[in-house]
Amino acid sequence: MQILSRLTCLINRHRPNRRKVVWTGKQFSGRCKHCGHTIMRQGHRKWRLDPATARYGEPETMRHSRN
Ligand SMILES: [Zn+2]
Repeated sequence: MQILSRLTCLINRHRPNRRKVVWTGKQFSGRCKHCGHTIMRQGHRKWRLDPATARYGEPETMRHSRN
């Protein structure tokens, strides 16, 4: 089951640690209990990485700005 959980994280489907879920004023925010990333609730049982804190690679624009 652990491996299955990791796979769902890789395709951006996360499960929140319910004790850490908070209401931000706009939506629910929490931590994925499998991968530990900050996630935002986007619908019923739909939790996606918070784009502001996502660390899956760097955006292209940031990489090029160093040159
Ligand atoms: Zn996750």
